[in-house]
Amino acid sequence: MNLEIVTIGDELLLGFTIDTNAAHLARELAALGARIVRRSTCGDDAAAIADAVQAALDRTGAVITTGGLGPTADDQSKPAIAALFGQQMVLDESIVAALEQRWLTRFGQPLPPSNRQQAMVPTGATILGNRHGSAPGIWLEDARGRWVAMLPGVPREMRGMLADTLIPRLRDRIGTGGTVIRSRTLRTCSIAESALADRLGELAGGIDGLSLAYLPGNDGVDLRLTSWSLPAREAERALDAAAVRVREKVGRWIYGEGDDDLAALMLAECAAREATVAVAESCTGGGLGARFTAVPGSSRSFMGGVIAYHNDVKVRELGVPTEALDAQGAVSEPVARAMAAGVRQRFGTRIGIGITGIAGPDGGTPDKPVGTVWVATDIDGDVRAVRAVLPGDRNEIRFRAGQLALDRLRRTFARDADGDGWTVRAP
Ligand code: AMP
Ligand code: MG
Repeated sequence: MNLEIVTIGDELLLGFTIDTNAAHLARELAALGARIVRRSTCGDDAAAIADAVQAALDRTGAVITTGGLGPTADDQSKPAIAALFGQQMVLDESIVAALEQRWLTRFGQPLPPSNRQQAMVPTGATILGNRHGSAPGIWLEDARGRWVAMLPGVPREMRGMLADTLIPRLRDRIGTGGTVIRSRTLRTCSIAESALADRLGELAGGIDGLSLAYLPGNDGVDLRLTSWSLPAREAERALDAAAVRVREKVGRWIYGEGDDDLAALMLAECAAREATVAVAESCTGGGLGARFTAVPGSSRSFMGGVIAYHNDVKVRELGVPTEALDAQGAVSEPVARAMAAGVRQRFGTRIGIGITGIAGPDGGTPDKPVGTVWVATDIDGDVRAVRAVLPGDRNEIRFRAGQLALDRLRRTFARDADGDGWTVRAP
């Protein structure tokens, strides 16, 4: 089944609200086997809503809208779409009764007059119940079977209604002959998108009918395999086989799957080795510690750290030699090494991590441009350091430096920290 999504709201057009509803709908519906062929957004204006929905109905005959179901004057979706179906708006007494009850029990107050607007529904509509809020959803369908489902704008309510009522309704109609859209994501880091494509060679454009997308972000490049029209079990089998082939080519750079977080994976590795870890952070300012402590149960392996931002702190708290700072500067191999070793000794851990770099926008020089970082790991006294020049703005560089440190740990655990292909950049 082909479907269109129309999201409604001035706040979406103005950019104050990010359209997470469209993204959520697309993911959920794809998993059912429905194909979203177009998304559009319009403002809170009856004519614009009618235009967008009519065009979508003409193309696909299957439309989901979100937003504009609230009780205020800017909520225009229902009458605008009802008119397309030649329906009138009428007051639904059972919705009024439910709203009155809700206000009484939740707020101890009678229903405000403006909220009665939410009980207005098009004639001929099916009401989609809303357990998570007050605005009910609406399903309208014409004699030719063309339909519009109107969901609320508030994301939590939209998600609830989708799961509770719309998906069960759609499941019967989707009629894809049992095929689904399924994806598998392999997460890489420390390698550029084009370098991945080079190494994937003949797989770069897709594998056995599965598409392959390259999704670069701050934590690396995600490789997403998608099966578009196979039955669920075959789709899973095809994804498994394709993932194996991708791993054969670029497995060194793959740290996880799905929404795996490298910090969580490394803590699990540490726990498995009964190793504790401490961090010495300069340019990341505690960002790596924050990532570790965001993981539930991190206290089992993560001991703590030092934000050694000023050179005096690097010397006093970590024992970084002043000579190294004077001779080579704070962003240098000996300083990163001394930070990692210093924090490991002082915290009595098996693992120490040191990060020092230039996050910018100022402070770069020709031989140490903005983005230059040195990262060192000390595992049981075996200290290894690496230099990288990371792209991005200040915050991106700071995040990427933490990710690089985590990836160094991963590679060292895997005994793959040396040699070529460590940070592979686009040619
Ligand atoms: P509405 O149902 O149009 O009154 O929307 C209520 C609230 O839901 C808005 O103020 C937004 O904060 C939020 N919202 C509406 N549409 C979306 C959307 N497409 N994605 C994310 N949030 C939305
Ligand atoms: Mg709105």
